[in-house]
Amino acid sequence: MRRKIVAGNWKMNTLPSEGLALAKDVIAKSAEVSSGVELVVIPPFTHLNEVTKLASGTRVAVGAQNCARWQSGAYTGEVSAAMLGAMGVEYVIIGHSERREYFGETNSQLYDKIQQALSSNLMPIFCCGEKLDEREANQHFQVVKQQVEESLFALDEQSIKQVVIAYEPVWAIGTGRTATTEQAQEMHAYIRNLIAGKYGSQIADSISILYGGSCKPSNAAEIFAKPDVDGGLIGGASLVAADFIAIAKSF
Ligand code: PEP
Repeated sequence: MRRKIVAGNWKMNTLPSEGLALAKDVIAKSAEVSSGVELVVIPPFTHLNEVTKLASGTRVAVGAQNCARWQSGAYTGEVSAAMLGAMGVEYVIIGHSERREYFGETNSQLYDKIQQALSSNLMPIFCCGEKLDEREANQHFQVVKQQVEESLFALDEQSIKQVVIAYEPVWAIGTGRTATTEQAQEMHAYIRNLIAGKYGSQIADSISILYGGSCKPSNAAEIFAKPDVDGGLIGGASLVAADFIAIAKSF
């Protein structure tokens, strides 16, 4: 049985007091969600200390949006995976398309970040996905293949099993345009097949692959019903606790 996960990426939104109120609301409503679904909130760094304290002992886990690709040292402005782990953070997003686009993160840098995350016992949520022009040029499989191979395939078997993958077609993020359920299923199955080719089908079948891109209460159920979709990485809709919970209840 694969883990079902619904994770809310708050991005650079909410002041600390607003973030705490949002986390409190998610925790309060979390009992409405089937116990088989893991809930993860992913606030900005500045809120993590308070949110992890608030979420401790509840069913809501906390993630970070990024981590450094180095262990420690003279890297002004960076936050290490060990620092996150010490705060009680359990997940970390690696390679969100906004990090790739605005901060130039490369597949090989993302491999380093995943190694850092794993060595601090954080579960990486590795994001992959093609841009609109790449889909239109029918290059989407090739793009995702390269992202997965270059960032994940040097991991050993024990390590890959800790990774959660999020397929997020860039053209669907924050645009209101969702991939069709067929497009999502097709790419999720493709990714699982890639993993199976490298690590075997037992490992591939155990890895959760989340969908991300304009997922909302009105479309979550049909996306989550697809056999290779194991949950969602939710952006905009995760900023409203009732919507985030409604999405998680769609399983
Ligand atoms: C995201 O940024 O990971 C995302 C899926 O955003 P949205 O849900 O707003 O499209």
